[in-house]
Amino acid sequence: MKTDVLIVGAGFAGCTIAERCAAAGRQVLVLDRREHIGGNAFDERDAHGVLVHRYGPHIFHTNANHVAEYLSRFTQWRAYEHRVLSSVEGRLYPMPINRTTINLLYGLALDEAGVAAFLERVRLPKERIENSEDLVLGSVGRDLCDRFFRNYTRKQWGLDLSQLSSAVAGRIPVRTNDDDRYFTDNFQKMPAEGYTAMFARMLDHPNIRVELGTTYRRDTTILQATDIFYSGPIDEFYDFRFGHLPYRSLRFAHEHLAAVERYQPVGTVNYPNDFDFTRITEFKHLTGQTHSGTSIVREYPQAHGDPYYPVPTEENQQLYRRYAALAQAEEHVHFLGRLAEYRYYNMDQVVAAALKMAAQFTGEAPGSAAQGAAI
Ligand code: FAD
Ligand code: UDP
Repeated sequence: MKTDVLIVGAGFAGCTIAERCAAAGRQVLVLDRREHIGGNAFDERDAHGVLVHRYGPHIFHTNANHVAEYLSRFTQWRAYEHRVLSSVEGRLYPMPINRTTINLLYGLALDEAGVAAFLERVRLPKERIENSEDLVLGSVGRDLCDRFFRNYTRKQWGLDLSQLSSAVAGRIPVRTNDDDRYFTDNFQKMPAEGYTAMFARMLDHPNIRVELGTTYRRDTTILQATDIFYSGPIDEFYDFRFGHLPYRSLRFAHEHLAAVERYQPVGTVNYPNDFDFTRITEFKHLTGQTHSGTSIVREYPQAHGDPYYPVPTEENQQLYRRYAALAQAEEHVHFLGRLAEYRYYNMDQVVAAALKMAAQFTGEAPGSAAQGAAI
């Protein structure tokens, strides 16, 4: 089979591009070095039949209607709003910090206006917000910062809040009301049969061939494709010629508890100050499964291992820009996704970027990908 388009990586980025190019009549070959499709959003049934996310909890949420509509062609959905509690000094508090968190922690009974006034009193605003510490101190002050953010961040990134871009802690809002949802997007749902089933449908097209367990290397992979879409680490593509871009890794410790029906009250409990792991997720909350027994995962951050998170510091951005300049000069290689663009993307942002890139490449009118879709 002739290959017009070679796609490196079968995650959200690669599957979206593959599906769009195949629909536009191109012959597509998708390679992934792993033995499965889905990238880091891959899910599977464990030995006990519980649907688990091998690479940590993935909760789909978006405000981009066209992304939700596009993915809805390949999956039905199960309504799910994620909730997180943070374990501080042996007690569980809503995270993001909200009215309940503050009243429970300080033994107060403030209403919304009272919480706003409380935060106004404790916050330590700076004229210029230069990093995540400035952002957190400026919104909740030192005590809440130290109890909920400082140690979690050090564990997760191996860096102090002050060393990370404000966008990192900026992912977590602060609320004066009782809303205890982790996300507030319009669309918060989980793929009804899981992510892997959704990816399998995206790739199920006569124009798409998938080769798993196959690593793409620029020098050795024979290229007869006219175009390459690359969603692996950008520094690896260029043989690390300017040095390694730091990616934070994790070790996922999965466990099945046969005698336990519910391990914890919500999907995820964060442990900012104790243990070497950051959080525990119980999958039955996310999937709605009613199995007997339950499966959980603990996330242990580490410096080395599979790349999961780009590390958003100014220094790393500078190094990334040197690689991005090389990428810019490529005529037939297109870089997309969390590792190739070195961006702390959520899943929906990767799909949005891939749809945009695919529309430019295939000449299709923007928005046509989602036509005829139903949620
Ligand atoms: P990936 O999923 O990383 O896929 C890239 C693929 O390329 C991989 O399968 C890799 O094996 C393959 N590859 C790389 N190099 C090569 C090569 N040289 N040859 C062949 N194959 C190669 N987002 C959310 O929206 N909600 C969440 O709740 C959420 N939770 C997350 C939790 C964790 C622990 C992590 C790590 C991420 C989470 N994300 C979440 C982010 C989400 O995982 C990413 O946005 C998304 O998976 C990125 O898709 P991608 O295709 O860019 O990359
Ligand atoms: N964070 C924190 N305490 C928490 C939750 C998050 O300090 O209880 C900070 C931490 O720096 C983390 C960032 O906020 O890396 C973003 O959190 P999010 O839950 O979005 O991380 P992800 O799910 O992407 O790992």
